[in-house]
Amino acid sequence: MPYSLREVSDAVESLWPIAGAEGWDASGLIAGHPDDSVSTVLLAVDAVAETADEALDSRADLLLVHHPLLLRGVTSIAADRYKGSILTRLIRGNCALLAAHTNADVVGDGTSGVLAQRLGLVDVAPIVPHTDPEAGIGRVGRLTEPLSLGHLAQALGKILPATATGIRVSGDYDSMVQTIALCGGAGDSLLSTDAVTHADVYVTSDLRHHPASEAREQAGLGRGPALIDVSHWASEWLWLDVAAEQLRQRLPDLSVQVSEIRTDPWDFVVTQ
Ligand SMILES: [Zn+2]
Repeated sequence: MPYSLREVSDAVESLWPIAGAEGWDASGLIAGHPDDSVSTVLLAVDAVAETADEALDSRADLLLVHHPLLLRGVTSIAADRYKGSILTRLIRGNCALLAAHTNADVVGDGTSGVLAQRLGLVDVAPIVPHTDPEAGIGRVGRLTEPLSLGHLAQALGKILPATATGIRVSGDYDSMVQTIALCGGAGDSLLSTDAVTHADVYVTSDLRHHPASEAREQAGLGRGPALIDVSHWASEWLWLDVAAEQLRQRLPDLSVQVSEIRTDPWDFVVTQ
């Protein structure tokens, strides 16, 4: 028996309550009717042409993504523009679209929580806690044994799916680190928080020149972490397997698949 999209949305709400989302976010149902039937779900980080095609090819009734397709003002979903093209194809193919974004970042088994677990961190707490102290943005915790910064970066390289741009590090390869702050996705807004400035290293994505340079200059004057910059997509993709298993447990008759397509936008680098 298929579930209704309403039942799947209810399971999503129980796992990743929308109340936990940031005010600017646009998580929730993007396309599809709550009365639609859902037997198969495909999980992906991004709703892009390739993952939409994968959902339709695998006859998924729902594409559940991390990043909302419609986050900022949209005045057209004409099918010759990419967002309209994706939505048109999904709707014509009877595939709903639902996003669980910052509401899935903040929970214990959310994007940052899963990365902390995969690194084996202990005494883990959010960088910015919510009223529920288990929930919040980012995570900080300790490795059970100190590790060199270089070896931590290598360990991340094994944990995360491969991407063209790899892993960038700012700091001394041989310096020993134990307190790790991390934030799946773009986390430069947390660079000046106490939890990050007191950590030995901060792992996040999309670090730009000025925030990274300023954080390292400040570290040179006293307190501040080494930086590890990983692929945004890779840092959040790890969460999909955990999310899929949680959905299977809540809705045992649901077929839940995880997209293996790399939606990191970078294709190659040239080393000098
Ligand atoms: Zn993200």
